[in-house]
This record gives sequence, C-alpha cells and structure tokens, in this order.
Amino acid sequence: MAETVIKTEKLGFSYDEDGKKVPVLHDVDLEIERGSFTCILGHNGSGKSTLAKLLSLVLSPSSGKVVLFGKNTDGITEDEAYELRRRVGMVFQNPDNQLVATVVEEDVAFGPENLGIEPSEIRKRVDDALELVGMSEYKKHSPHRLSGGQKQRVAIAGIIALDPDVIIFDESTAMLDPIGRAEVMETIKKLAARGTTVILITHYMEEAAEADRAVVLDDGRITADGKPEDVFSMTETIEKAGLEIPQVTRLLKALKSDGINVDTRALTPQGAAEAIKCALGGRK
Ligand code: ADP
Repeated sequence: MAETVIKTEKLGFSYDEDGKKVPVLHDVDLEIERGSFTCILGHNGSGKSTLAKLLSLVLSPSSGKVVLFGKNTDGITEDEAYELRRRVGMVFQNPDNQLVATVVEEDVAFGPENLGIEPSEIRKRVDDALELVGMSEYKKHSPHRLSGGQKQRVAIAGIIALDPDVIIFDESTAMLDPIGRAEVMETIKKLAARGTTVILITHYMEEAAEADRAVVLDDGRITADGKPEDVFSMTETIEKAGLEIPQVTRLLKALKSDGINVDTRALTPQGAAEAIKCALGGRK
C-alpha cells in the first residue's frame, strides 16, 4: 500500500472574529497517499483555503489533528515545522504575489537559495524546474512581462525547485484567462503523471475531472469522496454543495431518466458518446 503522506483526524478550525469563534471546518477526516492526484471541490467560503493552510502548517487546528509524513504536527518545534512546510509546497491564486525577483531564473532560485543549497545543485534544480513547466526559453526574461499563465508556471517552477513531496494548488487557475488555465492544468497533470502528490483545490468541475479522486467540501464538511465520475453522478450532493454539475453528466442523466439505460459516469464528450453508443446497442 502507498504511504499516507497527509492525514487529518477530526480536524476542526474556527476563526476568531471580534472575540467570537466562527467555525469553518468540522471533523475533517482525510488521507492522502503518496503519488495520488486529489482534487478538493467546494464553492466559495466552503473552507478549502483554510484546509490548505492547515495542511501546510500556516494555521494550527482548533480541534483534531494534522499528521504529515507520519508525524503528528501538534506541539512540534519551529525547526520541525519549517522542514515540514518545505515538504508541502503551495501555489496560490495570484501569480503576481508569488514572484519576487526581476529575472525568471532568479525567481525560481530564490527558494532553494534560502534553504542554503549548493549553487551547482541550485542551477540544476532551476533548469529542471523551468524545463518541466515549459518556461526554459524565458529564463532570462522579466517575470512581470509574462502572461498570467506563464507567471503562474514560473511560480510553480519555484515550488518544484524546493523539491516538495506534496504540492497544493489553491485555486491556482482562478485568475487566469482560458489559455493560461489550460497551460497551468497541463503543468499540473504533468507533475501528477511524474509522481508528485498533487492536491488541486478548485470549483471548476472540468479541472476536478482530471484528478484521480474528488473530495467535496460543503460548509466545512466532507460530503463526498471518490472517483470524480462517481462523485459527479451524486447530483444532489453536488448541487447542495453549490457546485455545477458538468454538462456531460447532465446530458447522460437526462437520457437515463428518459429510459435509456446509459452509464452516467463519463466525464468527457468522447466518453459520453461511447456510453450512449453502448446504451443504444452499438447503433450508429
Ligand atoms: P474557500 O477557500 O472555500 O473559499 P475559505 O477557507 O477561504 O473558503 O473560507 C471559509 C470561511 O472562513 C469563509 O466563510 C470565510 O469568510 C471565512 N474566513 C476565511 N479567512 C478568514 C479570516 N482570516 N478571518 C475570519 N474569517 C475567515
């Protein structure tokens, strides 16, 4: 069995607002295996970012626990927390807030330099990371001149250069145009395919469809957890969580309720076409 890299047990969190506790996460039990590609789906305010901040030790639980790489993070020293934070990388929504240098390669090198890594090793990490995100040819450019998708890929390279075990993408495509979104999704898929443990936080169903597992967060509670195709067919749960049922799923469900015995789990138009063909007994 694959190693569990992240585990939460009855995790709860409340923000303190004017001395009043406002609970936003309740009894979250989640296990993430090494090498898996999980998406966390939820509408605005459902607690996704708060969960990401707890998993990357930016926040501490109000109740329950966060176990990273087998280590309970409750009461760990600042040095231990520092090392664990490096192992769980975060990519945020706004690329502009994540870029620090005036030259792309310097920006990517910034993190490893802060870790005190050897210059020759930094060179290798920066080159490999830029290659992976498809930004090598821009290494001498100024990040500020790049498109949103390119900036976000440079930010991702900066995280890859830290060599984390897990990367959490917190709505990392939300501020991008469709081309930028597609570029960043390609990069995320590439990372997942090469074995990085990926947690993708999103409210876009088509992005969630790319993951191996979809976890639905509704008002701070997990209400569904499974393969995206299975989770998407839980229409009521999805709608209750304020998420949009993908069009493909709606079409297949409509056919089914009209008496056509079709498998409703396809996520792409091609998959739906196959399922419909199959349901119609291979008729053209
Ligand atoms: P999501 O990422 O799903 O949009 P968040 O985790 O950002 O959700 O927010 C969950 C809830 O917590 C929301 O109701 C939000 O208003 C509230 N919240 C988030 N950050 C803070 C904060 N720093 N102080 C008080 N309330 C917050």
